[in-house]
Amino acid sequence: MESFEGGKDPNRGGDGPLRITRSRADHPFYETFLRAGEAYGLAVARDYNSADIEGLHITQATIADGRRQSTAVAYLHPAARRPNLTVLTGWRADRVELEGGRATGVALRRGATKAVLRAGREVILSAGAIGTPHLMQLSGIGAADRLRAAGVTVSHCLPGVGENLQDHFVASLTFRAQGSRSIASDLALWNRPRIGLEWLLTRKGLGATSFFEVGAFFRGGPDVSYANLQHEFLPFLADFQAGRVRIDHGYQYFLSQMRPKSRGWLRLRSADPDAHPRSSSTTSTIPPTPRRCWKGSPGPATSPARRRGRRSVGWRSRRDPTCARRRRRSPGCARSAIPSTTRSAPAEWGMTLWP
Ligand SMILES: Cc1cc2nc3c(=O)[nH]c(=O)nc-3n(C[C@H](O)[C@H](O)[C@H](O)COP(=O)(O)OP(=O)(O)OC[C@H]3O[C@@H](n4cnc5c(N)ncnc54)[C@H](O)[C@@H]3O)c2cc1C
Repeated sequence: MESFEGGKDPNRGGDGPLRITRSRADHPFYETFLRAGEAYGLAVARDYNSADIEGLHITQATIADGRRQSTAVAYLHPAARRPNLTVLTGWRADRVELEGGRATGVALRRGATKAVLRAGREVILSAGAIGTPHLMQLSGIGAADRLRAAGVTVSHCLPGVGENLQDHFVASLTFRAQGSRSIASDLALWNRPRIGLEWLLTRKGLGATSFFEVGAFFRGGPDVSYANLQHEFLPFLADFQAGRVRIDHGYQYFLSQMRPKSRGWLRLRSADPDAHPRSSSTTSTIPPTPRRCWKGSPGPATSPARRRGRRSVGWRSRRDPTCARRRRRSPGCARSAIPSTTRSAPAEWGMTLWP
């Protein structure tokens, strides 16, 4: 399926249509993140999408030649001229048609226009983690009592539909920078025409990145046997409000919980396809890891790097009074008390992690 820039190995594809590349990570803030991670005791993982996920990494992205690679780019566009392919856009699937327990077609709608497509052989549903179970339940496939309660005629009783929803907790940790150090200056309104022009002419620059160029997978405590937390680092402050992004000086981390144990569900609110389904991602809950103070490190317990790392990277709940004291003490950009360490990226990456 994939064509990874780093080449084929037992875990990676080298000749598929979906191109995966490594980010350039050439802004000083990325370098600072990597240095801080190393000071904390983390090593650089050679390929976090292969066997060794744990540690620091320069991210890989489905971006090639400055363009986001998607299923459409990788598969649909190259096949667009095939006579046996028709792509309909702007249509909404309302229901899968069933006959005798077999899917025979799909009922579609676009504005006031309705249509039913009959399947020659099979119907494949790929409407995502929300859309797929929603559509199945609208089609009468699900737990019989719940479907009836929502006013849907039961076609096929399958209680597992809409159950076992898995979602992971993400905390955004934001740090405002003093002064104008961060990529936010480069993204200022007056710089955007230049970014656009650079992208058009070279397919490179800030128009060709997701900005998530470095990160880390690590353990949330000494008693954890796998990397159960992920840091994604952004070299500016992005405040998402009502569909708009406000960019400011600073940096932020997205701290994500890996392999969450909580399970939820997605159920019909009504038989109306336009009514959003009800959902819960934490019905059977365990306390999410980031609620507790995070103190662990994979480094040796006595290493100075680890002790420094605890001070600079540790994270506590917002409700924790110690955190509030810390925030009052250092509201600005994190101090750069990170020791300088030299390490190079594997030669085939064609880049220097830091000089
Ligand atoms: C905030 C966020 C960040 C993520 N980051 C990463 C990441 O860094 N790396 C990674 O690997 N994954 C990431 N993911 C997960 C990744 O996006 C999904 O796993 C992936 O997109 C799932 O692909 P899919 O084709 O199954 O569904 P989707 O991409 O959800 O596609 C489903 C499509 O079906 C359409 N649809 C739904 N219902 C209907 C209907 N009734 N009629 C017609 N069309 C319908 C939707 O509009 C959508 O276009 C992230 C997800 C989120 C939300």
